[in-house]
Amino acid sequence: MKKKIVLHFSKAIWDKPIIYRLIKKFDLVVNIQKANVLPKQESFMVLELDGDNGVITKGLDFLIECGVRIDPIEQRIKRDEDRCTHCGACTAICPTGSLYIKDRSTMEVVFDSQLCSGCELCVPVCPPHAMEIHIY
Ligand code: SF4
Ligand code: SF4
Repeated sequence: MKKKIVLHFSKAIWDKPIIYRLIKKFDLVVNIQKANVLPKQESFMVLELDGDNGVITKGLDFLIECGVRIDPIEQRIKRDEDRCTHCGACTAICPTGSLYIKDRSTMEVVFDSQLCSGCELCVPVCPPHAMEIHIY
């Protein structure tokens, strides 16, 4: 099976070889789809794990033991279309490319909820509070 997740690394563990150990220890196929790792700063990574369901579960337990915060890919973020002013502030921070400018001539910001990881990074940066968290 395949599982898509967002990993958050605190300042204390940003430089630890956690992903290397995950691959070595559990023999999972790890596809890094997006990463923002900066020295001594909070970092995140969008990963797709491919492997046996039980092994993936053990791998996730290992990540949690290492201090990694895991967000499952869930479509729990919605955009209030009436509030969005298409300012573009969210497009720079969205790690999965769910918020993007489709056409430079109109500068319309598109929200593709299918790509959204639910990481919530766009919520605090949206000036008119158009990005909303919906818990399922
Ligand atoms: S930051 Fe908010 S208002 Fe600006 S484009 Fe994104 S969703 Fe729309
Ligand atoms: S929650 Fe916001 S920043 Fe995170 S993936 Fe979804 S649209 Fe992008």
